[in-house]
Amino acid sequence: MDLQEPDVEEGIKYWENTPATLDGVLGGFGSGTLPRVDSLGSRQFLQSLIPSLCTVPSVLVPLSAASSDAPGRRTRALEIGAGIGRVTSSVLLHLIDDIVTIEPVHKFVEKAIEDSIRWKGIKDKKKSVTFMRGALQGFDPTKRLDDQEIDFHCHRVGYEGEDEEGFDVVWCQWALGHLSNADLVRFLKQSKKTLRASQSGKQRENGVIVVKENVCSDEKGGPAIVFDPEDSSLTRSNKAWYEIFKAAGLTVIREEVQHGLPSGLYEVKMYALR
Ligand code: SAH
Repeated sequence: MDLQEPDVEEGIKYWENTPATLDGVLGGFGSGTLPRVDSLGSRQFLQSLIPSLCTVPSVLVPLSAASSDAPGRRTRALEIGAGIGRVTSSVLLHLIDDIVTIEPVHKFVEKAIEDSIRWKGIKDKKKSVTFMRGALQGFDPTKRLDDQEIDFHCHRVGYEGEDEEGFDVVWCQWALGHLSNADLVRFLKQSKKTLRASQSGKQRENGVIVVKENVCSDEKGGPAIVFDPEDSSLTRSNKAWYEIFKAAGLTVIREEVQHGLPSGLYEVKMYALR
C-alpha cells in the first residue's frame, strides 16, 4: 500500500490554480452529463436515507407524509470541500433549509457567493447558506461557527434567523482525498457527534454523514491507496474507506455506486454513515 500522505498546502495550491467553473471543480467533466447524473443520484440517495426531507410527494414519500415530519424545526447540513457550491445548489438546497459550507480557496467561495442569489430559497430568504473559508483540517464541526479558528472567514446569505446547532446531513464529496487518514478520522469522529436525532423519534431518520468519493481497487483483497502527485491527493479503495469508517466509530448503513458517469473515471461510491 502506498503510504504517501497528501500535502494540504500543495492540494490547496492546485485548486487555487484551477478556474472557478464547473469544468474546473469537476476536472473537465462540467459540460457533459456528469453534473446532472451526479446531482440526481445524490438527491435520490439522500431522500431514500431521510424520507422526511422530501417536501413534495414522491414514490418514497406519499402526499400525506411529505413535510409532515418536524414542522417548525429547520433542517441543517454541512458540506465540506464545497468548491463553487455545486452540491449545495444542485442537491442540498432542494432538500435542506440551512447549509454551512467549508472551502479553502478564496475565488471558489467568492464565485459561490456571487451565484448564490440565484440558488433555491436564497433571494426570498427562505433558506440560508453560510460560507466558511478555510481548510477542513482547521475546522471542528462540534464547535459553533463563531468559535472556529481565527483564519476562518464567514459570510451568510438568505434566511436570517438564529443559527442552530448540529446537522441532519454532513456531505463530503470529492474532497476527502486531500486529508490524511488521521485528519479524516478526527473530522468524521467529530461529525458523528454533531448528527441530530430525528424530531419524529424515528431512528432511521436521524442525521447522516454521506461520503461520495472516487474508489480505486483493493489490492490482493486488502486496502489500497493511490497517491496523485498532480493535486497531492489520495484515492482510497473500498477496504481503505471501511478502515477509516471503523476507526471513526461509524457504521455504513447504506452504500451505492453512482451509475451513469462517463467511462474512464474511477468508480464513484456513496456511503451513508452514522
Ligand atoms: N465538492 C465539490 C468540489 C470538488 S473539487 C464538488 O463536488 O463540486 C475539490 C474541492 O476540495 C476544491 O474546491 C478544493 O479547494 C477543496 N479542498 C482542497 N483541499 C481541501 C482541504 N484541505 N479542506 C477542504 N477542502 C479542500
